[in-house]
Amino acid sequence: MKILVLNAGSSSQKSCLYEIADKTLPSQAPEPVWEGKVNWTQNQDVAEIDVTTNTGKKLQESISIDSPEAHLIYILNTLIGGATKVIDRLSEIDVVGHRVVHGGRDYQNSVVITEDVKKAIANLSNIAPEHNPAALAGIEAIEKILGEVTQIAVFDTAFHATLPDAAAIYPGLYEWVEQGIRRYGFHGISHEYCSARAAQILGQDLASLRLITCHLGNGCSLAAIKNGHSIDTTMGFTPLEGLMMGSRSGSIDPGILIHLLRYCNYSVEQLDRILNKTSGLRGISGISSDLREVTKAIAQGNPRAKLAWDIYVHRLRSGIGAMLTSLGGLDVLVFTAGVGENSPAIRQAACEALGFLGLKIDFEKNQQQPVDVDIATSDSTVRILVIHTQEDWAIAQHCWQILKGIAQ
Ligand code: ADP
Repeated sequence: MKILVLNAGSSSQKSCLYEIADKTLPSQAPEPVWEGKVNWTQNQDVAEIDVTTNTGKKLQESISIDSPEAHLIYILNTLIGGATKVIDRLSEIDVVGHRVVHGGRDYQNSVVITEDVKKAIANLSNIAPEHNPAALAGIEAIEKILGEVTQIAVFDTAFHATLPDAAAIYPGLYEWVEQGIRRYGFHGISHEYCSARAAQILGQDLASLRLITCHLGNGCSLAAIKNGHSIDTTMGFTPLEGLMMGSRSGSIDPGILIHLLRYCNYSVEQLDRILNKTSGLRGISGISSDLREVTKAIAQGNPRAKLAWDIYVHRLRSGIGAMLTSLGGLDVLVFTAGVGENSPAIRQAACEALGFLGLKIDFEKNQQQPVDVDIATSDSTVRILVIHTQEDWAIAQHCWQILKGIAQ
């Protein structure tokens, strides 16, 4: 089965092709046979193209054509021609899976995309303006390029559909619940993948484990997972709630917004931009949203960079504490995504605060660029795993399962 996975964002579109035997899914993520990335620069007319294959072929180009659809056509043509060719015809692709950030209350599982699904994704664009329109554009472009191919939406909210009402409902007006204003949670594809992978690495039944998964990338969120289900998470109605992130504030007192609107002449657009784009590590450090840059500035004695680090760690620890009490105990703590996978110092700082639980991180293992490895000491009461999140593979797995279901 040839599965194309598309992951469309506001400034990039990632795609990859998996070839999987029809009979069984491999137990671990295989390498995609082809990966393509389009990065849109500030000047929207220019796109940076980056293609690699599992045989080591590469293509890097800047192209100046005028629409995301044209970019997608360009990049898909690298599947069937030139040095990065891996298939003869695009019609060999059996299914296209899309990461869709928001599925709302109606879509609690992955689905085959129909006109109704497209309408729902479009209607949810006002809550996920950075992501849902980009996913829809990708779906419509694939319809034009590949015609009748089966397309599947895999939602980042779906894994959190099991949140109990007490965790999901905001203590505002009860009418909000009917209006769909509630905690949805995001990064669900990653939290689900990492919890399943953790159980696999430990050789234990997922249903028997209490896990906290820390997805720390540009966006950051935690999930509390019990019996394989998400029972609490830090992101909310939008991906703005919860932890401090690269350029997003995470949770702040909503009274601050009222104050800024009432007394400081802020517009809604300004607030949106500030909270989503210029806050978090970037806002406090004044340096960058990238933790690596913030860390360099700390080494040079920059006090704002140090403050940004301290707030990030404080909020991460508080968030873990909140998930811990929702779970009523902890068996496994998982770190994943750019920061979670690559920053031993953040892992160390988060774990230090949990020593009272008997959780002990192995200093050496933590330093050794662990991938899918347990970095707890042998006498730790909680396992601590670093897992490379494989969202594209998780989407491909959903596609395989749905297509197999259809075929039966
Ligand atoms: P996204 O959320 O966009 O998918 P990633 O999961 O790739 O992003 O995370 C990107 C972030 O990971 C970067 O902004 C950077 O802060 C962080 N990161 C990557 N490598 C390191 C590292 N070696 N040390 C600290 N942070 C890192």
